[in-house]
Amino acid sequence: MIERFIRDVPDFPKPGILFKDITPLLQSPEGLKASIDGLSSLVDPASYDVICGIESRGFIFGTALAHALGKGFIPIRKPGKLPSKTAAESYELEYGTDTIEVHTDAVSPGERVLMVDDLLATGGTMEAGLNLIRKIGGDPVACVFVIELLFLNGRARLDAPSHSLLKFD
Ligand code: AMP
Repeated sequence: MIERFIRDVPDFPKPGILFKDITPLLQSPEGLKASIDGLSSLVDPASYDVICGIESRGFIFGTALAHALGKGFIPIRKPGKLPSKTAAESYELEYGTDTIEVHTDAVSPGERVLMVDDLLATGGTMEAGLNLIRKIGGDPVACVFVIELLFLNGRARLDAPSHSLLKFD
């Protein structure tokens, strides 16, 4: 049902990339509701305590999901954005590296965390997110995505059960 709200934009942000644009999905009341309902059905909410989203599209889905399920939300952010004490994790990009950060007190020891992002491509971002949550003492129980690009096999890098609503070959 939600597939029709995903817009393919060729050659964005650079030649050869087919960008999966989720803004039509967000714009549609039925699409937004179906995506949050869908994400909430992928993993038993009793199996996690809190939801963590990765900047910035992970914030949109993660916060809405947290609100719908009566959970709290933890933001993983780009460097230099979080004001208190942070932990950081770097990961490889095609050219160079990227870093993400989280507050060190964002989870209590052993707290069970559901990880959320809009799209799973190579898996590098979520792999770093999992490492970061473990670094601060959290227990990531699963990862959920609206979209998964199967041909990049990103899930092979993720050592937590991973689920997605829409899969593209
Ligand atoms: P990756 O680390 O390769 O799994 O990339 C995941 C992140 O990059 C997600 O936060 C996505 O928002 C973004 N991303 C990667 N590839 C695409 C794409 N083809 N369309 C839209 N977003 C993408």
